[in-house]
Amino acid sequence: MELRLYNTLTRSKDPFRPLDPNHVRLYVCGPTVYDHAHIGNARPVIVFDVLYRLLRRLYGAAHVRYVRNITDVDDKINARAAERNISIRDLTEETYAWFRDDTAALGCLRPDVEPRATEHIFEMQALIERLVASGHAYVAEEHVLFSVPAMPEYGKLSRRPLDEMLNGARVDVAPFKRDPMDFVLWKPSAEGQPGWPSPCGIETPGRPGWHIECSAMSWRHLGETFDIHGGGIDLVFPHHENEIAQSRCAFGTGTMAQVWMHNGFLLLEGEKMSKSLGNFVTIRELLADWPGEVLRLAMLSTHYRQPINWTRQGIGFAAKTLDKWYRVIGDVEAETGEDNPFESEIADRLGDDINSPSAITHLHHLAEVAEHEDASSALKRRFKGAANLMGLLEETETQWRARQRAAVAVDPEAIAELIAQRNAARKARDFSAADHIREQLAAQGVVLMDNKDGTTSWELAR
Ligand code: AMP
Ligand code: ZN
Repeated sequence: MELRLYNTLTRSKDPFRPLDPNHVRLYVCGPTVYDHAHIGNARPVIVFDVLYRLLRRLYGAAHVRYVRNITDVDDKINARAAERNISIRDLTEETYAWFRDDTAALGCLRPDVEPRATEHIFEMQALIERLVASGHAYVAEEHVLFSVPAMPEYGKLSRRPLDEMLNGARVDVAPFKRDPMDFVLWKPSAEGQPGWPSPCGIETPGRPGWHIECSAMSWRHLGETFDIHGGGIDLVFPHHENEIAQSRCAFGTGTMAQVWMHNGFLLLEGEKMSKSLGNFVTIRELLADWPGEVLRLAMLSTHYRQPINWTRQGIGFAAKTLDKWYRVIGDVEAETGEDNPFESEIADRLGDDINSPSAITHLHHLAEVAEHEDASSALKRRFKGAANLMGLLEETETQWRARQRAAVAVDPEAIAELIAQRNAARKARDFSAADHIREQLAAQGVVLMDNKDGTTSWELAR
């Protein structure tokens, strides 16, 4: 099969040719760890997990290296630790553990390396020293700044006119900047702020800017140039533009990564997610109501470059689909590998710029084909193997139902409460809320018995 990926740098879908097929290298910008990750943050994690699985199938697991960093030095982290009156280390450790558990529940493999910014200060200092030595950066008032006019190709990724970039960068135009576009590589730390010995002979201890963190960590773990760099579309400018400027100028290379991939944004019920508008949901809150696999399928139902509208209805639909698919596969073992033609078909569809909606359409078709076969049928094993390539149907039907029963066993009172809420919603003619509750319970294997007075009883599916 051929893998073709849309490259933000060229604005076209190009055949993927790794620099070294024995060492395929992927870097994705990871979380800034100060709070629970929201469902928008889950999008790049899930999307690049599918790409990682596909690359492992194509080149062999031993030949792919996936690096996703942890930003554990950032002013938002300092502010939150002070607010909660805990140490920065305790805050970042706690938040990272949440993130690790949430993403595992979404069926994502752990990257090969999850480097922490605070453990790569030496590499950041080394990069900054190089940039100053080569005339691409300068020291001003205990800061080190990247000199944008020193890089003629700056802006090649985002292709924005200069005035738009200036607005987009939203940088304070500090008086010591030689050019308003120049950005911070290193800044001084005040008493009580995290600080490290500064580079370039600056006496005050300081801390790195955000962009230099990713240039340093990708260099250390993947080298001066590598294959694929990913993240959300909001990172194209200024973050990725600045990463490119730093890495290319420090190493004198023509590229940092060959392919730049960006996922579209996630909207919640049609609106921008925003804490202040109360329109905000964390992965953890969703996992309290739904199995992670349901959220994963819902996420992959939209192509990663399109905006996704995250709705209760979409989640409910994914829950119903998985329930059906688990009924089809029962407890068979998956058949995986090149000899499974169903898996090859899914790989082909994913190979077209990770066309997960097309792959899911094909899984629906395979489910229909396998449905009426008996349990010993190879079709069921192949269907399961094909879904496994996307990190789906990794459990057996027995495990899936046991999870539903466990959810029920822990809290029958919660079911009664949800039924009461649903009856009230139906009375108020809020059918969408009522439907949501029915689907939520269905995902736990609870089937409601409705009559004209509302729900009076419930039972477990099968
Ligand atoms: P952050 O922790 O805000 O730097 O974000 C971590 C990752 O999540 C980045 O790749 C962002 O581009 C991505 N991201 C943040 N918000 C959303 C959203 N609403 N939809 C999709 N991706 C997002
Ligand atoms: Zn980054």
